[in-house]
Amino acid sequence: MKVLSVNCGSSSLKFQMYEMPEEKVLISGNFERIGIEGSFYTVKFNGEKAKKEVALENHKEAFQILIQELLDYKVVENLEEVGGIGHRVVQGGDYFDKTVVVDDEVIAKIEELSTLAPLHNPAAIIGIKAAQEVFPNATQTVVFDTAFHQTMPEENYLYALPYDFYEKYKVRRYGAHGTSHKYVALRANEILGRENTRLITCHIGNGASISAIKDGKCINTSMGLTPNAGLIMGSRCGDIDATIVTYLIDKKGFSASEIEKVMNKESGFLGISGVSSDSRDIEAGIEAGNEKCILAQRMYVKRIVDYIAKYYMELGGCDAIIFTAGVGENSMGVRLGVMNGLAAIGVKADPEANNIRGEERMVSAADSSIPCYIIPTDEEVMIARDTYALAQ
Ligand code: AMP
Repeated sequence: MKVLSVNCGSSSLKFQMYEMPEEKVLISGNFERIGIEGSFYTVKFNGEKAKKEVALENHKEAFQILIQELLDYKVVENLEEVGGIGHRVVQGGDYFDKTVVVDDEVIAKIEELSTLAPLHNPAAIIGIKAAQEVFPNATQTVVFDTAFHQTMPEENYLYALPYDFYEKYKVRRYGAHGTSHKYVALRANEILGRENTRLITCHIGNGASISAIKDGKCINTSMGLTPNAGLIMGSRCGDIDATIVTYLIDKKGFSASEIEKVMNKESGFLGISGVSSDSRDIEAGIEAGNEKCILAQRMYVKRIVDYIAKYYMELGGCDAIIFTAGVGENSMGVRLGVMNGLAAIGVKADPEANNIRGEERMVSAADSSIPCYIIPTDEEVMIARDTYALAQ
């Protein structure tokens, strides 16, 4: 069966088509600037990438072009071959603890949860509705970034605010990147050869989160009600004293949306270094001796170490630490800093093995108390697996 993994943003549509259950990628691509001047798309087929400029009014038009490409490249002979379409949805609240088949009630719930993910959930709904029109016979599913974290115990997902804030307004920790944490945890268990494991998974990309996973189930994660919690990120501050918000509103006369913008778009690597939100630029700055870049990286690494230490205690030990996503897979400096920062619990890096980008491998020394691995993430294949299972 052919299954399409889809990730819709407000002006973008990323896709990857699989032959399932073989998990073979048949074609992939990305539509960008949908509804904006200068729209274009890229398609990757048989290792070759093509870029085409074309006016894209809306997501439905993007899906229609996608169909034409599937036919032109002979990925399918007719649309009936596409058995399932899995849509990534950022926020599933506490309604969804697994992937589900789309129906009107599911769409209504995703819409209701838009208050918690105002940029992402409405875009996913646009994508789902467009796909339903263009692929009426395929099973449509929704795969939630939050679902994997629904197994957290309440002492980990509740904030110490008045309890009715949780009951009335659903204020609690939801986490994010769940599909990625789940994928690398499954892979880590395969590497370790067993399922009863204690894992700490570090998804560190532009957005970044860490999870504590026991026997395949998430027991804690660093992102919160929104993604701006926990780690220092490209341009997000992560954990701060919450009262800083009201203090700055008072001192600087910021509005709520202004302070939110500062914390989400102007903080993290960018805010501290003043140079960039991209870890490659920070590393170039460090090479050039830029003090602020050195400080930004030190703070960034320290926060990761703090969380790993905390989850190590919570899990009662740890069988493997996993690095994934853009920074985790590619930044030798961040990984090395984190492993060195954990020396007190016996973690030891293998600097030579760590000298690698984007490949699955063990990067800790043979006598490290905890083995540390790079496992490149693959959220798309997780979407395809769940969708295939439901479409059968
Ligand atoms: P992601 O959000 O997972 O796509 O990760 C994006 C981030 O990964 C970028 O902002 C970079 O900071 C980081 N990144 C990607 N490639 C490299 C690299 N070769 N070296 C260091 N950092 C990288």
